[in-house]
Amino acid sequence: TTTVSDISREKSAELFEKAKQYFPGGVNSPVRAFKSVYGTPLFIERGDKARLWDADGNEFIDYCCSWGPLILGHNNEEIREAVQNQLGKGLSFGAPTALENDLAELILKNNSKIEKIRFVSSGTEAVMSAIRLARGYTKRDKIVKFEGCYHGHSDSLLVKAGSGLVTFGETSSAGVPKAFADETIVIALNDKEALEQVFKDFKDQIAAVIIEGVPANNGLLIQDKDYIQFLREITKQNGSLLIFDEVITGFRLGFEGASKYYDIQPDILTYGKIIGGGMPVGAYGASRELMSCISPDGAVYQAGTLAGNPVAMAAGIAALSILAKEGFYEKLEQTTGAFVDELRSFIAERNYQIKIFTIGSIFWFAFTDQEKIQRADQIDPASMEFYKKMHRELLNRGIYFGPSGYEVGFISAAHTQEDLTHTLLMIKESIDVVYQ
Ligand code: PMP
Repeated sequence: TTTVSDISREKSAELFEKAKQYFPGGVNSPVRAFKSVYGTPLFIERGDKARLWDADGNEFIDYCCSWGPLILGHNNEEIREAVQNQLGKGLSFGAPTALENDLAELILKNNSKIEKIRFVSSGTEAVMSAIRLARGYTKRDKIVKFEGCYHGHSDSLLVKAGSGLVTFGETSSAGVPKAFADETIVIALNDKEALEQVFKDFKDQIAAVIIEGVPANNGLLIQDKDYIQFLREITKQNGSLLIFDEVITGFRLGFEGASKYYDIQPDILTYGKIIGGGMPVGAYGASRELMSCISPDGAVYQAGTLAGNPVAMAAGIAALSILAKEGFYEKLEQTTGAFVDELRSFIAERNYQIKIFTIGSIFWFAFTDQEKIQRADQIDPASMEFYKKMHRELLNRGIYFGPSGYEVGFISAAHTQEDLTHTLLMIKESIDVVYQ
C-alpha cells in the first residue's frame, strides 16, 4: 500500500482555535466541526468547479458539495453572472420581484407534483412550514416520522433524527418540550406493519407522515417502491397527508425528485439546497387547494423577511435553467453509475466488506456485508471507525468527503472524467490502507 503523510493543517487549526472563542464548538453548524473524524475542520478559502482550497493551500476534489446544493460545482459561471448582475440592483426589498415569478414558473412548469409554491430561506423552514400546513388543513396534531430521517432542526422533528444527531450519538435534541415530542411518533423505515399499527393506535389523530424522498441523512436508506406506494395508500385511507421531504432529492434526482422515482403523488413537498444554486433558499409546495390555506389566503401563518430574496432567486433561476436542459440528469446519473461500478468491482476483487449504495448522483459507503440497508438500526455504529480512517486517508490524498460516515457523497456536473478517474485511484489506495 502507498502511504502518504498528513496534510498541513496549521492555518486551519489556528482559525479553529479562534472560532472556538466565538461559536459553540467553533462552528455555525455541528457536523462541520469534524468531531467524529479528524477533529480539526478545514477552513475553506475558495472553490472552483469540483475543487476546494483550504486556508493552508491544500487542494481537494470535493464530494460534499456544500452538503448537496452544488450540483453544478463551485463558482459556476452562469450562477455567478446572475448573482453579479443582481448585486448592482439591491440585495433585499422585502417586496415582490419578478425574479420570484421566474423561479416559480421554471419549477412549476417542470414539476407536475405541485401547483403552487412558497419560497423560504432554508430546508428547516420549508419542513417546519409544511408540518404547520398539514396540521392546519387536517385539524389534527400528531405527525409520524421515521427513525434516522432528518428534516431540519425544528422542535417536532428533532426526535430520533439523522445527520449531526446520529453522528454525535444522541438522536434526539435537548430543549424540545415533552409536550411537543409527544406529538411526534417515530417508527422504523421499511416496516409496513409498524405503519398499520400506528394508524390503529392513533386513529384520526395523525395530521401527516413525513419521510425523506430517499432517506440520506443516516446513510443512504433506499426504500422499496412498493413500501413507499403502501405509505401513500395508507395515509390517504386515513385522511392523513404525506409530506415528502425532498430537500436533498429535489432537483438532484430530477425536477420531480424522488416522487417521480417512486411514481407517487405526495400531498406536500419540501425543497432546499439545489433550489437556490448555493444561496439560502428553501420551498414547499402542494396542490392549489392545500396552498390556499397559507396566509394571506388562509389561516396558516408563515412568513419571512428574506424569503424570495432577489439575489438568491437569481442564483436559483440560473442553476435550474441549466438543470432543466435535456439529458442533464441522465448524464450525471451515468457518470455516477460508472464511478460506483468501478469501485464495486475493486471491492469485490479484494473481497472487502464494503457496500456502496447509490441513487441518481448520490452515493454512500457502508462498511458492511449486508446486501441492503433500509433502516437506521441496520447500521453498526462501530463501522464508523472505518469511515473515520478512510476519511483521513482521502483528505491526505486530496479528496474531500463529508466528515461523517452517516453522510452521503454527491457528484456534480463539474466533476470531469479526469477528476473521477483520479478520485477512484485515491479511494482504492485509501481503502487498502484502512484494511491493511
Ligand atoms: N430535510 C432534509 C432531508 C435535509 O437533508 C436537510 C438538511 N440536510 C434539511 C431538511 C434541513 O435543511 P437546512 O439545513 O437547509 O435547514
